[in-house]
Amino acid sequence: MVPLLEVHDLEVRYGKALAIEQVSLTVEAGEIVGVLGPNGAGKTTLLKAISRAVPARGGLTFKGEDVSALPVHEVVGRGICHCPEGRRLFPELTVRKNLELGAYLRRDRAEIAADMERVHTLFPVLRERGSQQASTLSGGEQQMVAIGRALMGRPALLLLDEPSVGIAHKLKMMIFGAIEQIRRDGTAVLVVEQDAVSTLGIVDRVYVLEHGRVVREGTAGALKDDDYIRQIYLGV
Ligand code: ATP
Repeated sequence: MVPLLEVHDLEVRYGKALAIEQVSLTVEAGEIVGVLGPNGAGKTTLLKAISRAVPARGGLTFKGEDVSALPVHEVVGRGICHCPEGRRLFPELTVRKNLELGAYLRRDRAEIAADMERVHTLFPVLRERGSQQASTLSGGEQQMVAIGRALMGRPALLLLDEPSVGIAHKLKMMIFGAIEQIRRDGTAVLVVEQDAVSTLGIVDRVYVLEHGRVVREGTAGALKDDDYIRQIYLGV
């Protein structure tokens, strides 16, 4: 069976600087895959290249189809939704309106309503805060809106860029729990993180990116036992 997402030998340059090179990875349907790495390793760039927000060289196939030359909105239409670093909400708009914007390409009203219900079940606080301006929410709640908005595109693959950054521990645990629920609901997840401990607790497989290259890959179980990972990423 072909993987849901297949990235082959991907390369992104910003001017002359190489941000990622020779990056190959796969995500199977139903998987949670993590990408770990330090600041500046190229994690955000990798997600942007997959969602076609930055130009890249190399292979990019989704559900067996070459998507390496598609514009962003067509990639979204195929089922890849990106929840960016820093959330990028519309601060003046209400929580509900921000969520609705995630469905901007869709016309299936009944299904959109069903997905809104699903997001509210995943993050009940967003139902309570629906008419509040997004800017008035806490950082963790804003992250929930950003994830919910991406889910409103009904993705087969959700790209999550550092969902736990700058968030209080309790909300962080809630967000990692939500990622597991999203997978149970049938959406595969590719999550970029710096929190190795929490990430290894929920993912099936991990790629470790350093200086734009994959330096380790394997199942979460195998990487938890890898001396290099234990020392550098887990601090044990
Ligand atoms: P962080 O965890 O800090 O977000 P990251 O692993 O996501 O880091 P990227 O943001 O992908 O890393 O950055 C990879 C490299 O590309 C870095 O050296 C960064 O300075 C550079 N870079 C990122 N965006 C641009 C840009 N728009 N123009 C020029 N260089 C960039």
